[in-house]
Amino acid sequence: MIQLFMPLNFLGFVYREIKGSMASIEKMFELLAVTPKVSDVENATELVLSKGRISFNDVSFYYAKERPILKNVSFSIEPGQKVAVVGASGAGKSTLVKLLFRFYDPSTGSISIDGQDIHSVSQLSLRKAIGIVPQDTVLFNDSIFENVRYGRPEASDAEVSEAIRMAYLENFINELPQGADTIVGERGLKLSGGEKQRVAIARAILKRPPIMVFDEATSSLDSRSEQSILAAIREIATDHTSLVIAHRLSTIVDADKIVVLDHGKIVEQGSHQQLLADNGRYAQLWQVQQQQREIAVLPT
Ligand code: ADP
Ligand code: MG
Repeated sequence: MIQLFMPLNFLGFVYREIKGSMASIEKMFELLAVTPKVSDVENATELVLSKGRISFNDVSFYYAKERPILKNVSFSIEPGQKVAVVGASGAGKSTLVKLLFRFYDPSTGSISIDGQDIHSVSQLSLRKAIGIVPQDTVLFNDSIFENVRYGRPEASDAEVSEAIRMAYLENFINELPQGADTIVGERGLKLSGGEKQRVAIARAILKRPPIMVFDEATSSLDSRSEQSILAAIREIATDHTSLVIAHRLSTIVDADKIVVLDHGKIVEQGSHQQLLADNGRYAQLWQVQQQQREIAVLPT
């Protein structure tokens, strides 16, 4: 009797574990508003992270065969470095992020993390290692507190509260009718783009993965909230390997390396100072944005 009971109990445990991880994979796809296109290879291994070095090796990619999106992209992010990718809208920046998270596989070339091709590791272990603050954050019909907890479902209340504080969401939440218990999402309170981004940042803070990806994480914030968010990002990006997709160049001047993408091709890469000195595409973009900033602060 006892003998029978044990394995059943154990099976129940395994079943709950599997069910739990499937649910979190599904949530992940929901979080990023994409549908899965790839599956694990047979005998997929667990990603073993040592320092968090990422390398894109001659990556080309198309969604539809007749239209290449990324063309022979090669760059690396050394452990603990912050690398920024800049370029016009449609250049392929978010596609790079989707490939790193393995929502798609490169058409040719490969991406590796600490020497392991991400194609051969389990998606679960890959996605556990990477935290994303996406361009469009999906909120569930649940309290704002639980929405933050999605970053790490097993986190304690105290940890969720701390993440809320670090993402500068506290003042906003205090003004809500039911505070942190206020229901948000499609059937609840609608949040602005900037507020949703701060929820995404709080989730990322809670997850604290070794690799952080910010996809135009501050694009819908006014400059003042942007500064406080940037401070939060800088704090969590310390000691993490991070990839920052940036629209406003002023937000990435401190990056270890800036990769300039144009129509899916890398046209330049280097530090802010190097790229300004080279006086190429980046320097042009920088000048245009500086002028826009000056215009923006002129009294009307
Ligand atoms: P960026 O983030 O630099 O603005 P994206 O990587 O989002 O650029 O998009 C690059 C190009 O790929 C764009 O022309 C876009 O229209 C196209 N694209 C993006 N997602 C898809 C998709 N799921 N199917 C087909 N084309 C896509
Ligand atoms: Mg994008």
